Amino acid sequence: MTAPKRRVLIVGGGLAGLACGVRLHEAGAQPLIVEASDDVGGRVRTDVVDGFRLDRGFQVYLDAYPEAGKLLNLPRLELRPFQPGALVYLDGRLHRVMDVFRDPRHLLASAVAPVGSLADKLRVASLRWRISRSTLADIAAREDLTTEVYLQRAGFSRRMIDVFFRSFYGGIFLERDLRTSSRMFEFTFQMFSKGSATLPGRGMQEIPRQLANRLPPDAIRRDTRVTDVEPGKITLASGENLLGDTTVVAADATTAARLIPGLVLKEPGWRAVTGLYFAAGKSPLSEAIIALNGTGRGLVNNVCVLSDVAPDYAPPGQALIAISVLGTPATPDIEKQVVAELEPWFGAEVREWRHLRTERIQRALPEQPPVAGELGRCFREIGGIFCCGDHLSSASIEGSIISGLRTADAILG
Ligand SMILES: Cc1cc2nc3c(=O)[nH]c(=O)nc-3n(C[C@H](O)[C@H](O)[C@H](O)COP(=O)(O)OP(=O)(O)OC[C@H]3O[C@@H](n4cnc5c(N)ncnc54)[C@H](O)[C@@H]3O)c2cc1C
Repeated sequence: MTAPKRRVLIVGGGLAGLACGVRLHEAGAQPLIVEASDDVGGRVRTDVVDGFRLDRGFQVYLDAYPEAGKLLNLPRLELRPFQPGALVYLDGRLHRVMDVFRDPRHLLASAVAPVGSLADKLRVASLRWRISRSTLADIAAREDLTTEVYLQRAGFSRRMIDVFFRSFYGGIFLERDLRTSSRMFEFTFQMFSKGSATLPGRGMQEIPRQLANRLPPDAIRRDTRVTDVEPGKITLASGENLLGDTTVVAADATTAARLIPGLVLKEPGWRAVTGLYFAAGKSPLSEAIIALNGTGRGLVNNVCVLSDVAPDYAPPGQALIAISVLGTPATPDIEKQVVAELEPWFGAEVREWRHLRTERIQRALPEQPPVAGELGRCFREIGGIFCCGDHLSSASIEGSIISGLRTADAILG
């Protein structure tokens, strides 16, 4: 007689819960993912509106992510790369600043762009050399600082930090003060040096969908909110109890802190972002590149034309423009203000743009301040309940997947 399969109840069908579920299922256990919303993906969702694919907040997949790359079938995602570098809007025009190691054609333009001095650009090269030779363990073992202090200690000028790093990493960390951990900075910098920022051909939600498709259909219950958890038992909003051998809380940090008894987990602060989408008859950039606001003024942090990167993001003959504003400012008519702000960047054609959606995401990324000492494990076990998610690892697709996988490994023993 074969032993009954170990039944694991997983609260949350974001990337951490899905990665945990896939690993458990493929090792012969029986996961059941209980997801509050109408579909899997958590913070990685895509809605189709008038034929445009609108990710819930502009985000990218870095194709050098080591663990996510092993778990996912990347060819099936049909990843479309961004060019390695950025355009920086400054002094009334866009300047090209490229990763010249990956795209040497732009060496001269990048060297003379007024975004930092030549010495700053040589410092980028030296940082690239040092970080790309570090293992992830080396990065984790280094002293953790705020990214701003780290860049100052690396010798970068104030102008380079203000004009380039605040907008480029502002768009990644969702904060321009650069208070995020320098280990997170080094990790992200390494991923950008080793690979490309990409978009799956049919939207970011293809990533969680691919994982969900590796599970039996009855392993995921959608539209089902969990209100209480115990070891081996969860209670649903309907009052129904589900029983299993193990419980995993793979919800976001705030929900996890509320669900797990004893408040052992501290609720983090959150980084917020406002994402705006516009449709246009013609791309204002006509290339797969991110454009940054280097002026330090205004609402816009970054702009990109998603359909220049992945054509299926927009119907034929149309362009899909994504704009990120950090935080959720209470600016009235934010759409009009953003368009007016971009007129000097792209000209009067911006007046023809058609607004598609504005998304205010309050809980986009948990804050990631520097951590004194060594990093902990990227999951917890608290009173017989496992907890995983990006808040226990790094606030990224890679971090949430690692956290889910390690949790499954610990359960499997
Ligand atoms: C705007 C934005 C931009 C980003 N940019 C990038 C980027 O460019 N690159 C990158 O790598 N990462 C990026 N990230 C981060 C990345 O998306 C997240 O770190 C990751 O998706 C978190 O996954 P998770 O599974 O830990 O949490 P979540 O995605 O939050 O999943 C938690 C799940 O739990 C469910 N849940 C919550 N409460 C309950 C309950 N009571 N009962 C049942 N289910 C519940 C939720 O509905 C959700 O599906 C970005 C995130 C945002 C929002």
